[in-house]
This record gives sequence, structure tokens and C-alpha cells, in this order.
Amino acid sequence: MKHLSFFRDYLIRKYGSPLYRIPLDPGFSCPHRLNGRGEGGCVFCAADGSRARHLEAGLPLAEQVRRGVEYVRNRYRAQSPYIAYFQAFTATNAEISLLRSRYEEALAAADFRVLIVATRPDCLPEECLEYLRELSSRYELWVELGVQTASDETLKRIRRGHDFQTVVSAVRRLEQSGIRTAAHLILGLPGESRADHLESARKIADLPFSALKIHNLLVLKGTALEKLYRSGKVPVMNEYEYAAELEAFLRVMPDSMMLMRLSAEAAPDMLVAPRWWMRKGQFLEMFVRSFESGERISPPAAEKTSMEEADFLKNSPSFPLCGNAGTDEEMFDDEPEVLQGRPPSSRFAPVQTGDGSYTLYHPLYRQHFHSVAGAEGESWRKYIEPCQIREKLACGKDVSVLEVGFGLGCNVLALLELSDSVRRGKVHVLSLENDRGVLDAALSLPGRSSAVKEKRTALLSALRETGRYEKSFFSCEILWGDARDSAASRPCSSFDAVFLDAFTPESNPELWTLDFILSLKNCLKTDGFLASYCSAYPFIGALLEGGFHLYESRPFGRRRGGIVAAPSSDSPPPTGLPAFPEKDLLIATRSTAGVPYRDPELKLPRKEILENRKEQVSILRSRGVPKWYVPGKKK
Ligand code: SAM
Repeated sequence: MKHLSFFRDYLIRKYGSPLYRIPLDPGFSCPHRLNGRGEGGCVFCAADGSRARHLEAGLPLAEQVRRGVEYVRNRYRAQSPYIAYFQAFTATNAEISLLRSRYEEALAAADFRVLIVATRPDCLPEECLEYLRELSSRYELWVELGVQTASDETLKRIRRGHDFQTVVSAVRRLEQSGIRTAAHLILGLPGESRADHLESARKIADLPFSALKIHNLLVLKGTALEKLYRSGKVPVMNEYEYAAELEAFLRVMPDSMMLMRLSAEAAPDMLVAPRWWMRKGQFLEMFVRSFESGERISPPAAEKTSMEEADFLKNSPSFPLCGNAGTDEEMFDDEPEVLQGRPPSSRFAPVQTGDGSYTLYHPLYRQHFHSVAGAEGESWRKYIEPCQIREKLACGKDVSVLEVGFGLGCNVLALLELSDSVRRGKVHVLSLENDRGVLDAALSLPGRSSAVKEKRTALLSALRETGRYEKSFFSCEILWGDARDSAASRPCSSFDAVFLDAFTPESNPELWTLDFILSLKNCLKTDGFLASYCSAYPFIGALLEGGFHLYESRPFGRRRGGIVAAPSSDSPPPTGLPAFPEKDLLIATRSTAGVPYRDPELKLPRKEILENRKEQVSILRSRGVPKWYVPGKKK
């Protein structure tokens, strides 16, 4: 299976739109909980039987439909027709006349075209099948069968209350009734390994299933699984571990198998573990990209990480994961859990950096937000000190800073600390950021001390609520959106310093182009400085072409320093910093290494920016410009 075939795409082809699901609770509970066989049901199942959060128990079905429709209209601007998704507990666990009346009540309440019924394989009596057959003549009907695993041993362990043979006969009976079936599976169940996952995959592939709904094991509050997890008996998978298992599983599936879901989320207040930072859409984007390109799925080396920094990485206590902007979350986000509210981006494990402060790893950009040599140290050494902000404040001057990439707010917090200690002049920060999730992520970072944590919480909470934070010697505002648009709308010559703190050029090229840099230059006062941790050659090339004069900030966590750029050679230099090494300037100007990224209208997608540069490099190479300039070497 080289390509993934999504149910959503199938719906678009067939109905012209993805058809949003309206989750419904017919109110039937679960036979397995009631009959005493299961000692309270499956170990992973929560008390609400996965009922969508906006549905209270006992809510009339017509009202459930009304709320569901209102939600998808508001959130996705979804139009009818919809999918009726009988999802909570076991949706066929009722005497047939009750089942029929509840289903018909719901189906009459909106324009439904597709119907999905989630149930257990041991809860499909003949009269129920007959009613489902009738429904399948009026709607496109799918039965979603809880399989979980093909291992009888695991089924016992998770107190599932049926064996795999029950699944086999249920899917065959559904097939004979002309009803299409999706298998619901969980990877990472207690005691299961890759071998068990592959065994399940092979068995599922041999049965007449037409679709898959699969996700990683989630430990929910109040479940039997929570106790097992807390006693250390059940490990959970992080994004990469799960992605690797999922990939192995899907490679066994036939191409015809449609994918209804590949990961799961739970409401933050219900979830014990795993605490992913990636949102569902972000995980899917990473997974699909890796799966289809055939790249191995594993935590990749961080690009913002130098050789020296790699040592810190090796010693870091965990390799945490986090997610970010630029994903089309809604593309995959059609699951009922969506109704539980967008989970914050705070699902991550922080990494302690070399100076004791914390950062996060970003799996989409494949790097940390900060140098692992020190998140806090980087703010001072790469930005605040080289731009001489303390000196300006100490003279009683106000200082305005334009930051590109608010991220986890480390630079802003350091500026706040500085203003609190100098208490002369006022710092005004305007930070440009396109991912609102970063505030939640930043809020859950541990502080080096409770005082730092308190300060950060006050700052971030105010920014989250109002987009602004104000104190006597300090003010900060975040401008949400693409920094290219935000910077272009700033008045000329209004900032004393620009902190260019995007992710690395290869992963975040739109913020390193000559054109964006010119737009930043436009914002800078003639005696101001643009500072960055980055010293990549295309960036140096862009600064030089943009008329900047370059200096080197002191190295931090690696051999090379960062860059401090004055807007022209006539501008006053930063005190005490050396000119940027001549050798690097020559490399940037005399070889294709320094070819800048371009984005003349400040709106190109990343891929195009990267490809255009590649093309430009190959044109120059064909004209004899060397790939690399070695100073002193004769032509
Ligand atoms: N300055 C931050 C700090 O002190 O914690 C770290 C910034 S982090 C390296 C880069 C940030 O740039 C990320 O938060 C990312 O979401 C943001 N970003 C990336 N592309 C962007 C764009 N086109 N417009 C605005 N922000 C962007």
C-alpha cells in the first residue's frame, strides 16, 4: 500500500463534500458492562462510553442532532447533508422497537446521507441486522465494529468480553447482508508488541472489512487502564512510536482499505496519557508525508542544533514532541472528539536546556524552539546583549523591539526581566506569530524558579486574553498572522531592534528571504540593529544584498556566533562586537552558498521558495559560479 486512501476523500468524490459527522448517543449503554461478564467493561472505556462531550446523557435525539449541526456549521461552515454517527457505548444494544424509534427520531431531524453505527461484534442479533439492511436501502450505511486486536489473549486481558472468532462471524454476517464494515482497532494495548500488531493486520486484511478506524492507546481518567498505567504496567506511545507501529500495520493493508481515522484525542481533563503535543491534524500531516515518501519515521535530528549542541541532546532526559502551525487540521478533523473542544497545544514534554531553562522540540519543523545549550541564555546572548538594549534603557531611552516569532516567549520574558531590573526607559515589544497554540504550550513550561514561572504566567495569560501585556516599564503586544503580512504593515523606521527568531531557513524559509529582510529593514531605525541566532549563508547573502553591515555576536552553545546587522555601513556599530568574519562574507558573495531565498510578493508557499532557490543555484552553477568559495584558493 503506497498511498493512503482516506474515507474523507471518498466522500468528497461521491458527495462533493466531506460530509461532517453528527455524533449521537442513542442511550443504550453497553451489554458488556451490564451483564457482569466484563467486571465493568473494557479496561480502556471511560464512564461516558466515548459519548461526545456536548451531549449529556438522556438528551433527546432531535436535540442532539440540532446541537451537532450547529457545532459543525459554526466550526466548519458545514452544510447538509451530514453523517449520522451513532457512536456512544454500543449503538445496537436495545430491543429492536426502541432501537428503531431512536434511530428514526434522529434521522428525521436533519438531512443525513450516510449513517455509521458503532457497535460490538457480539451485539448484532438477527432482527437488528434486518433493520440495518432496511436502513442501508435508504442511506449509505456503515457498521463500525469494535475489534481492538485479533489476539484472544489480549482481548481477555483488556476484558473485552468476546473473542476474535466473534469478530470474524460478525463481519461475515454483515457482508452477507450487503453492509459495509469498518474495523476499529487500537495499537499499543497492554502486552502487545509489533508482532501482535502485524498479526492483527494480517487477520483484518483477510476479512471483508472495507475501512479502518485505528488509534493509539489512550489512558483515560477513571478507567481500569488508568490503574494499570499508574502502576507502571502499561507503557504508552509517543507520536513517533505510534507512527512507526501504524506504518507497519498499514503496509499490510490492501489499497482498497479506506481510512476513517488514524489517531485519537481525548478532552485534556479526561486524558491521563499519552500527552502528545501534536494535534491530530499535525500528527496526520507528519504521518502521511513520511508514509508516502517512504521516509523512516523516527525523531529526526534537530536542524537548529549544531554539532556542539548535539551533546546536550544526547543527555537530555527525554526527546519530547510538540506541534505547530501551518497544518490543515480540519482536513482530517472530522471526528466526534472535535466537539469536545480544541485541545490546547500544551501536550508535550519539556526539555531542560544547558542553563536550566526549558524549551520544546517541534516535530514539524524538526527542531527545538531554542538552542539546547540554553533557552534563556540564547535570548540574552543572541538578542538582548548584541542589540544593546540594557545600555539604551539605562540612558533613560525607550526601546521598541520587533520580534519575528513569539514562540514560547523566552525573548519577551527576558526583556520583561531586563525592564524590571533597569526600571528606566520603557521596553515596547511587538511580536509576530502565526500559531496561537504557542501560548498554551508556553504556559505549561516549567519555570527555573517559582518567581520566573509566576512572571511568565502573568505575561502569557494576559497575552492570551487580550493580546497585550502592560507594566510600568514594559509593554508587549502579539500580532497574530503571517509575519510577512504583519511586518509589511508596520510604520517605517519605528523599531530600535528586530529579533529575527524564526525556525531555520530550510524549514521556515519565508522568514529568511531577501524580500522579508528588506521589509524588516524598513521597520528599523537607522541606528537600530537586526539580530539573529542564525548565520546560514543564504541569510548572510540576503543581508548583504539588502545593504546591511554585519557583526558577529558572541558564540553561544556552538563555535560560531550569531549575526547582528546594522542597516547600513554608515550606521553606528554595536559596541564591542567584531565585524562578521571576512571568510564567511566571501563565501556568501562568491559562491552559490549565499544565494538568498526570494519571495518578491511576500506570499509564496515554503516549497516554492525552496524550489526557486534551488533553480537559481543551478542556473548560477551552470554559469560557473562555484558551489563553495575557498578563500585564498586560486581559480
Ligand atoms: N522567539 C521565540 C522565543 O523566544 O521563545 C522562539 C521562536 S520559534 C524559534 C519560531 C516561531 O516562529 C514559532 O513559534 C513559529 O510558530 C513562528 N513562525 C513560523 N513561521 C511563521 C510565520 N510565517 N509567521 C509568523 N510566525 C511564524
